[in-house]
Amino acid sequence: MTQVYVHLRGESSKVLLQKTGVIKKEDIGQVNALKTRQCPNCFEPNRPDSQFCIKCRIVLSLESYNDVLKRQKEKDLEMNQLREQQSTDIKELREDLENKFQQILLKINVDKLRVVE
Ligand SMILES: [Zn+2]
Repeated sequence: MTQVYVHLRGESSKVLLQKTGVIKKEDIGQVNALKTRQCPNCFEPNRPDSQFCIKCRIVLSLESYNDVLKRQKEKDLEMNQLREQQSTDIKELREDLENKFQQILLKINVDKLRVVE
């Protein structure tokens, strides 16, 4: 039974706690007062657990703001790694081509080469 309620957030678990007498009804009232989270940007009322405004998509909580920053940093890091990997790949490819070209040049009898016009 406990496992089922662990997944419930906000009101549901609060109502449950109220029913079982763990918290008083006044506390529930406070929860209801926070039922909407008004967007600071467009004043759209959002659900209290909303991370982003449904209308203008602005970040509504410090948590999600930090989350966005963190994800952005991770993305930047990933991009830098990809860029580094790419430049390493290109460098290796270039060296490889250079080596092959040198090998080909060694096998060619340059004297027999003519310029095709
Ligand atoms: Zn908004």
